[in-house]
Amino acid sequence: MLRLFNVMEIMVLETVSEILSHNETLCNCERCRMDIAALALNDLPNSYVVTVEGEVMLRVQSLKQQAKVDVIKAVSKAIARVADYPHHQKKKAAR
Ligand SMILES: [Zn+2]
Repeated sequence: MLRLFNVMEIMVLETVSEILSHNETLCNCERCRMDIAALALNDLPNSYVVTVEGEVMLRVQSLKQQAKVDVIKAVSKAIARVADYPHHQKKKAAR
């Protein structure tokens, strides 16, 4: 079965978890992760590919090298924004 995939979406979600898991001062809840991903994706070009199931990760790996710097830049910007304006009460005084 063929599927349509936005490679950028997978990369952004990966990068968000990667950065958040290495930074304990940032909220890592689902809401914040999704907000960050949405903001970052709005900042990045879409990158759709047609894939056979199971082939996706291979395609992601090859495209990753090219877009990585842009993705990290967009995600970092989105994280800073969500940290300042989270869609929920700030739980701890992290800053
Ligand atoms: Zn949160």
